[in-house]
Amino acid sequence: MKTKSLKKDKVNIVTLGCSKNIVDSEVILTQLKGNAIDVRHESVKDDSNIVIINTCGFIDNAKQESIDTILRYADAKKEGLVEKVFVTGCLSQRYRDDLQKEIPGVDAWFGTMELPMLLKKFNADYKKELLGERITTTANHYAYLKIAEGCDRPCSFCAIPLIRGMHISRSMDDLVKEATSLVRNGTKEILLIAQDSTYYGLDIYKERKLAELMERLSDVEGLEWIRLHYAFPTGFPMDILDVMANRSNICNYLDIPLQHGSTEMLKLMRRGTTREKTEQLLDTIRQKVPEIAIRTTLIAGHPGEGEGEFEEMMDFVERSRFERLGVFAYSHEENTHSHSMNDDVPEDVKQDRAASVMELQENISAEINEQKVGKTFKVLIDRMEGGEFIGRTEHDSPEVDNEVLISAEDTYLRVGDFAEIKITEATAFDLIGEVMTS
Ligand code: SF4
Repeated sequence: MKTKSLKKDKVNIVTLGCSKNIVDSEVILTQLKGNAIDVRHESVKDDSNIVIINTCGFIDNAKQESIDTILRYADAKKEGLVEKVFVTGCLSQRYRDDLQKEIPGVDAWFGTMELPMLLKKFNADYKKELLGERITTTANHYAYLKIAEGCDRPCSFCAIPLIRGMHISRSMDDLVKEATSLVRNGTKEILLIAQDSTYYGLDIYKERKLAELMERLSDVEGLEWIRLHYAFPTGFPMDILDVMANRSNICNYLDIPLQHGSTEMLKLMRRGTTREKTEQLLDTIRQKVPEIAIRTTLIAGHPGEGEGEFEEMMDFVERSRFERLGVFAYSHEENTHSHSMNDDVPEDVKQDRAASVMELQENISAEINEQKVGKTFKVLIDRMEGGEFIGRTEHDSPEVDNEVLISAEDTYLRVGDFAEIKITEATAFDLIGEVMTS
């Protein structure tokens, strides 16, 4: 970090939160570069004089991490190590007025839809011609594709609609153009993301169009894997399962946050479904795409969750045998519907319940992984680390799911390539394998 000199500004973008924020940061990066500004993402070099922090404002832990990051850079500014600090993203969108008073060291605060105003701070213009031409910050061989912004769902615990607004789908042509450009730049795997990806099209096309979008993306030459995240159970468009089953470059993978396994809690959470309907949906998904890996996310400790409801969730996890699962302890978020309820589950009980769910899942995951020993999988090599190549099968999304570890001794693989890997060993959350020699 350097004090002011006559030298050109150097901008560093710091991203917190989810994959949707990564895409937003990539759009900022692309626009600044498009205006000939020296910008990098998460630079480890200490030579930036301007920092843009793209924050997360979803739940307590994430908010705290964002605030700590802002304070760190505000302190660095006091010490003359950076010149300007700009803050954007969900935390800024949600709490700008309070934060402005509490952290005066920040030069300017921006909401999630205020990119042109941020660019103005650099005398830069928003370049429409760059739409669809995104510089990615992930490994070169995979990229996130945000198919929509915002959410129309009424989930009682969730602050996202308050932050990101109503659901807005991007046009299919724009998405296909962007995917084509990503593939041209080396992307082999695209992860479809949104707040609710299964709602895609209902606003701009007046009907669910996710299946058609997946087909058109599947036709993009050179795109080897398409992965679907953030599906919603209620009104689930079954036609995407046919596309998934018929198209070899669409991963047999589905991320579908279900939040709870008790009908009573699903009602309190305003999820618009029941345990029974959820289980029917899971059965249908597994029937239509037998090789599928299902990832879900659950919340432990929501108001009203007694021992009985929690036992129902444990039973749901036991019976559903998800291949991948994450769990959050409930966070009492102001202005959400749940905030009007009594936050009656003590914090330590929330944490204990979340830990119990993960413990149960660890056993299930170990059993599922054990069944893969001896089998061969197409693996995308993500990186080399500690004498091993590390990759993923089509059942694993980056950053959140299992990995495949391959010893690098006497083995030559290239990061970004696919390889046929025979699984020789399994742990609860990883697989160990060797290159399949023909
Ligand atoms: S669908 Fe997801 S983003 Fe939308 S309100 Fe529900 S939990 Fe929040």
